[in-house]
Amino acid sequence: MFARMIQKGKTFVQAALVTFIGLSVAAYPVSAHEWEPRWSLAIHGGAGTITPENLTPELREQYEAALQEALDAGSAVLKDGGSAMDAVKAAIVPLEDNPLFNAGRGAVFTWEGENELDASIMDGRDRSAGAVTGVKSIKNPILLADAVRTESRHVFLSGAGAEEFAAAHSLETAPPEWFATEKRREALERMKARELSALDVDHKFGTVGAVALDLNGNLAAGTSTGGMTGKRWGRIGDSPMIGAGTYADDRSCAVSATGWGEYFIRVGVAQEICTRLRYRFRQEIDAAQATVPKGPEGFPTYIVHASEFRLSTEQVQEEADAVMSEVKELGGDGGIILVTPDGYSLYSFNTAGMYRGRATSAGVNEVAIFAGE
Ligand code: ASP
Repeated sequence: MFARMIQKGKTFVQAALVTFIGLSVAAYPVSAHEWEPRWSLAIHGGAGTITPENLTPELREQYEAALQEALDAGSAVLKDGGSAMDAVKAAIVPLEDNPLFNAGRGAVFTWEGENELDASIMDGRDRSAGAVTGVKSIKNPILLADAVRTESRHVFLSGAGAEEFAAAHSLETAPPEWFATEKRREALERMKARELSALDVDHKFGTVGAVALDLNGNLAAGTSTGGMTGKRWGRIGDSPMIGAGTYADDRSCAVSATGWGEYFIRVGVAQEICTRLRYRFRQEIDAAQATVPKGPEGFPTYIVHASEFRLSTEQVQEEADAVMSEVKELGGDGGIILVTPDGYSLYSFNTAGMYRGRATSAGVNEVAIFAGE
């Protein structure tokens, strides 16, 4: 065991410590090479009943190309040493502009036949955040959310006020025709005619999102959506809600969600995952510390330092899955993407598929749609 650790690049102290205390927890000591700067990016374009049977090969190709375009845009920023915040915006803008997704252009219709857009963004460095809901003329709501974060004293602006703020900060606007697509209008009409629910007509959530880790070790998350077909009375989903649809904290993770917003709000999904990871990390360190023998005076002979450990990817997945199970138990569905400070990027979803992709400085570059891919 000892030789293997040295081989893997562990420092002597770390290897000796692990051998000494016979560490069995899955959190593992950090090796020297693992400290090298790294970047990581994950994106999504919604989750839902997405199966090979209900997606034609042509449409599948279009989705994959759109996801790859977004992934490339975000990766280019990170490769060049750009910030996680810039990468998240760079990845989300093309998804907002693409009518395939329910965000920006191609957003679903409200009951009244309009497109009302929501977005939020968060910087894990200082947990600064910006969000907008119910905007109708802003071409890229994610950029407005970021302007709220950087140019205002507030976190969350709505409707006419948000549009007024956008005008004062020269955000690009677009006419209603830019956002409206036939496919989404037809979904609203079907819903009204047959008294269906949003889930019956949409079959999938087309919200878009991105999470990133940059070379400086900072995390960011962003989400943008048109909400759910036929929403009314000023309904607001999880996507623009910091803590529900979006959260980033350099100490734990960055999360962006997609799914049945009401359930994600009730569980507080994005923040709940980050909080669980923070405590899980602490628990693992405490468990390791408890196994360190005490000296003659009753004090531990070694103090385990947080910087020597990281959670394993399995542990991170466990926590994300546990939160998604809570959503399911309450009756909701959907998924999340997540990136940790160590560069793990993963998904957790309880639907048949999720439009998704990830790329890392280690050479990962993949897009996927169906579960199990
Ligand atoms: N979460 C979004 C909402 O409830 C919908 C989606 O993910 O597509 O507004």
